[in-house]
Amino acid sequence: MRTEISKTFALESAHRLPHVPEGHKCARLHGHSFQVTLHVTGPIDPKLGWIIDFAEISRAWQPMHELLDHRCLNDVAGLENPTSENLARFVLERVKLPSAKLSAVSVAETCTARCTVHAD
Ligand SMILES: [Zn+2]
Repeated sequence: MRTEISKTFALESAHRLPHVPEGHKCARLHGHSFQVTLHVTGPIDPKLGWIIDFAEISRAWQPMHELLDHRCLNDVAGLENPTSENLARFVLERVKLPSAKLSAVSVAETCTARCTVHAD
């Protein structure tokens, strides 16, 4: 049996996709209200009854918020092609949780379009 907790954060960011076919709408600069969800797994502390405090996930997310919110993602080093897939991987590789495992990151760029990158 495996338990996962998750917490979702909002990003208001602009991007354009530089490698889409000519004439594709995503080549133009536009914005999204991204929803980024951090998925966390690990053993449940027998006394506390939780994997980690949700507040710890929020603290771990904060540097990403500073780096990505109200930015043009193309200007961020490592996000020159800021697809949802690349943004999820970027976050997965950089968010550090000392006492639990960041098992996946989901990025939703609209209410119906979502990408999830798993750590393994
Ligand atoms: Zn877009």
